[in-house]
Amino acid sequence: MTYFPLSQVQLAWHDRAQAIANDVLAPRAAEADRTATFPSEQLQVLRDEGFFGIRADREHGGQGEGLLTTCLVVETLAKACPSTGLIFKMHVESTEIVSRVPTADQAEKITPRIASGEWLSTVAGSEAGHQGGAWAGAPKAAVRAVEGGYEVDNVKKAFVTAAGIADTYLFMATLREEGKPPAALMFQILEDDLEWSIDEPWDGLGMRANVSSPMTFSGFLPEYRKLNPENKPVDFFSVAVGTYAATYLGIAGGCYDLLEKYVAETTLADGRRMPEVETIANRVARAKVELERSRALLYSACSAWDDGRVKGPQALFEAKVAADELATFITGEAMTLGGGTAFAKRLPFERYFRDARAGMVMGIAHDIAVLNIARSIFPKPKAPAT
Ligand SMILES: Cc1cc2nc3c(=O)[nH]c(=O)nc-3n(C[C@H](O)[C@H](O)[C@H](O)COP(=O)(O)OP(=O)(O)OC[C@H]3O[C@@H](n4cnc5c(N)ncnc54)[C@H](O)[C@@H]3O)c2cc1C
Repeated sequence: MTYFPLSQVQLAWHDRAQAIANDVLAPRAAEADRTATFPSEQLQVLRDEGFFGIRADREHGGQGEGLLTTCLVVETLAKACPSTGLIFKMHVESTEIVSRVPTADQAEKITPRIASGEWLSTVAGSEAGHQGGAWAGAPKAAVRAVEGGYEVDNVKKAFVTAAGIADTYLFMATLREEGKPPAALMFQILEDDLEWSIDEPWDGLGMRANVSSPMTFSGFLPEYRKLNPENKPVDFFSVAVGTYAATYLGIAGGCYDLLEKYVAETTLADGRRMPEVETIANRVARAKVELERSRALLYSACSAWDDGRVKGPQALFEAKVAADELATFITGEAMTLGGGTAFAKRLPFERYFRDARAGMVMGIAHDIAVLNIARSIFPKPKAPAT
């Protein structure tokens, strides 16, 4: 499966995810995409099998697994059904902070229910023109500090996966107070904390089963829904970005497996088997090399992060950039080798091809992820002290 040395625990998680992917996700993926149907049944199996708490701390009822194990699971799910993989990834991302720094109220009432799988969580961060994602650093719509909490007035989120379906949302906003720099606030909110509307049905090019509609939120959020203590940022980029990389790696791997099988089993009109045509076999070989290269980078980046050998998210950004490019490359190759039959949508490649496009624009857009790496390599010089 992989050249990277995985532990017995990691292999066991992978194998359990693989069984669900084979039995539950893969058989439903094409239909979920065609009809843009939210994969409730598929998610229910993941809930029942204890996957929803994979990263949540044990003290909150989760499994407290590392990033590598989490990414292995996300990759395996996304291989079989990218939409389900991405919804699951959003749940993991949202769970991360409410597991790390919950308020007492959240620790008691929210985190255990997310970790147990009773509740599905998601992220309501991105807004229109948000420079490629909730994490890109662009200011969010403002909330106003009022007695006991915050007033949310008509805050528009451009894309929310599982919009209107999730039980809780990681909700992001900006607090502007006179004489203070703007603070990026994060809340974990229940679906009935605020009034909300779905502003458009979801009819995406890819990730069609995700229901990633725009939403508008209004109402009052009590202080105890806010996550970041003293309004300071909580660093969980590595988990957010690493699991994105795993999603696109999964898309690439799922499409690659189908491509390899297709080429192995297909005979051309002149009687030659496809692998006998050197150009074709070489294209598949090249795709395999790229797949293993990106997989090695993601697994090593996760492993280094889990062991504390790297601190910030740069290695995970590198893995995400590689996985985005890999997914568009391999799905493009599959569309070429599948010829007119693929173009006519008679082969499953085109679904992966459409899903892979998401990697270039989310959750931190490809260009912004590259920019983040560049900024880590070449940090802005500090202004001289006056
Ligand atoms: C299927 C799907 C599901 C999603 N689910 C969620 C979700 O659950 N929660 C959530 O919060 N968000 C979600 N998003 C939103 C996602 O994370 C991105 O915010 C969104 O896709 C970016 O689109 P945009 O049009 O706002 O990009 P824009 O900000 O308009 O950027 C468009 C492009 O402009 C370029 N660009 C913009 N700014 C810069 C810059 N400063 N420097 C260099 N280049 C730049 C980049 O090429 C970028 O790709 C989802 C998106 C998709 C497609």
